[in-house]
Amino acid sequence: MRKKIVAGNWKMHKNAEETEDLLNDLIDKLPNDVEAQIIVAPTFVNLASAVDHLEFTNIAVAAQNMHQAEAGAFTGEISANMLKSIGVNTVIIGHSERRAYFNETDALLANKVSTALKHDMVVIFCFGEELKDRQDNQHFNVVENQLRDGLFHIENKDWEQIVLAYEPVWAIGTGETASPEQAQEMHEFIRETVRKRYGNAIAEDVSILYGGSVKPENAGEIFSKPDVDGGLIGGAALKAEDFAKIVEAI
Ligand code: PEP
Repeated sequence: MRKKIVAGNWKMHKNAEETEDLLNDLIDKLPNDVEAQIIVAPTFVNLASAVDHLEFTNIAVAAQNMHQAEAGAFTGEISANMLKSIGVNTVIIGHSERRAYFNETDALLANKVSTALKHDMVVIFCFGEELKDRQDNQHFNVVENQLRDGLFHIENKDWEQIVLAYEPVWAIGTGETASPEQAQEMHEFIRETVRKRYGNAIAEDVSILYGGSVKPENAGEIFSKPDVDGGLIGGAALKAEDFAKIVEAI
């Protein structure tokens, strides 16, 4: 069944104390009666404390990244097994900042997805075009290729573990949001692309989140579109009031 989801990507923000403060604030301010799944993704060092802190709430914890190998000589990296061992069952893979600043290619991301699925994790798979792609009218091609090369190696049964997050790079952290119509147009295309490859049931069931400068002021209109099933939120996830308003908008 297609779920409504609002996920907050905290990126490299909030130390241990600030993480606790924001979590307390969220527990205070988030509505209890929403049907949407709420997810927060603090930094690696604060994941374990976030899991403890949120144990009796309806807020799930996700990692922002993971390594594709099971274990080994990969200094500074974190494995799926490590995440699972502290109760983190969800991971964001393919965020545009990982693609741009850490050279994560579609082939590498495909590997990460496979490893996460092997460990029964939920994958929030991010993708989206750059400004130049849209100006050149290549945005649909770029998105189709990212899906094909990073994700479409998975089997039908794996889709229960997949959440898609369309994040046009030109809208991330820029204050520039895709219009609700642009978001709907692309989400419809994404669902169609999944349908062509995996069939109707999977296409209808998969949640497709929009990410890119979502704020309390624009969330309601974006979320009202039929193929937008929620949001992946960056900047506005760092303030409990704003995140709570975005959750209310769903
Ligand atoms: C993100 O980083 O996933 C994101 C959508 O950021 P922002 O909401 O700040 O644009």
